Amino acid sequence: MAAELPEDPENELADYDEGNLDVHEDATDELQAKGSYAGVQAAGFRDFLLKPELLRAIGDCGFEHPSEVQQECIPRAVHGTDIICQAKSGMGKTAVFVLTVLQQLEVDNDGQVAALVLCHARELAYQICQEFDRFSKYLKGIKTMVMFGGIPEKQHIDYLKDNKPHIVVGTPGRVLALAKKKVLKLDKVKHFVLDECDKMLESLDMRRDVQTIFTHTPHEKQTMMFSATIDKDIRAVCKKFAKNPQEVFVDDESKLTLHGLQQYYTKIDEQDKTTKLCDLLDTLDFNQVCIFVKAQKRALQLNKLLQKCQFPSVAIYGRMDQEERIKIYKQFKEYKARILVSTDLFGRGVDIERINIVVNYDMPESADQYLHRVGRAGRFGTKGLSVSFISSEEESEVLEEVQQRFEVHIKELPDKIETSSYIEDGKIEPPSTD
Ligand code: ADP
Repeated sequence: MAAELPEDPENELADYDEGNLDVHEDATDELQAKGSYAGVQAAGFRDFLLKPELLRAIGDCGFEHPSEVQQECIPRAVHGTDIICQAKSGMGKTAVFVLTVLQQLEVDNDGQVAALVLCHARELAYQICQEFDRFSKYLKGIKTMVMFGGIPEKQHIDYLKDNKPHIVVGTPGRVLALAKKKVLKLDKVKHFVLDECDKMLESLDMRRDVQTIFTHTPHEKQTMMFSATIDKDIRAVCKKFAKNPQEVFVDDESKLTLHGLQQYYTKIDEQDKTTKLCDLLDTLDFNQVCIFVKAQKRALQLNKLLQKCQFPSVAIYGRMDQEERIKIYKQFKEYKARILVSTDLFGRGVDIERINIVVNYDMPESADQYLHRVGRAGRFGTKGLSVSFISSEEESEVLEEVQQRFEVHIKELPDKIETSSYIEDGKIEPPSTD
């Protein structure tokens, strides 16, 4: 059932990825250019003494050098240490816990769940499951299962009767429901991961579910928590889940903004937003664009309007039929659609490598959410562009808060922007047609 597509959807959490692996002193120029995406004192993946099967899969993925967060976390985490990790978006935090779990996993015939990964959104669960599949392809006998609401519980129950996954990736609602029914046994879990941990712990409902799931797991286990934004309050909550955790804060708050990303704003009246957006889509070069709006209705309306204007757009939002939601996610991920209008559903975690531009058609409500949204462009140290429409006093305030907290200067949108400043090698790729 690894990364299988669900068949019938629910929405309780609706809004709620062996070559040249060695890097030593001769790679410094390239590494310096990438900044914190790969440290100058870089170790290679081989230095982490990972299983040969993992090194081979890492090579297949085209990963040449570990990013800073990977260098900081992997050597400690593979020894079972608890980790609380904050590192900016697109730094490869997923590979940290995926490699850590796979390195330590002992596949036995009992097929007990040994690793549980929880995240806040279904598409993210699906994406993480695919990352486990990608990195475990040379490891024999590892089964990963993704579970989230939106598909009849019975389907998961039936699957679990016949299959014994070693790794479960899911959203809290469904995981808890199955754990309570004792269909999903978590008493042998050795690795407990919370991705986007601040998001999972800030809402009391989700925190309660996570806590209850946690109590279904054994006391002795490794706990790892990740996000680009873990403020002091949430850090304190995270610590309650962990035992003497190593706190790896690769980037402190002021450095969380992405270096390859050009960030602009434009002051605009609400009624002029669509014209301005069409204008931008006409004049800017891009592979893929993600446009964020504040509500589902607006996503639908804007998408219709863009399609009417002949823009190849699709929309995604939480209350959409689950089958349709994953279909749109796959369509966009596989580069069969170039413009995505989304609510905050896609604002975090989701990794689409060809997004060069993020437009905040509506500003998000918080500075953190701004950081997560614009982090959809400029992933893994690549270039990108973000444009935020500011049409109210509240939106100005959020913009101001972003600039102060993350020490970034967001400039007013100029009339002309050089394509090479926001697209890697100025390269536009034709969309995939198969
Ligand atoms: P984060 O969780 O930090 O936001 P992801 O784990 O989604 O970031 O990684 C962002 C992108 O970078 C993904 O496409 C991933 O495949 C890629 N990536 C991760 N680590 C490396 C690496 N060491 N070398 C090259 N690409 C990497």
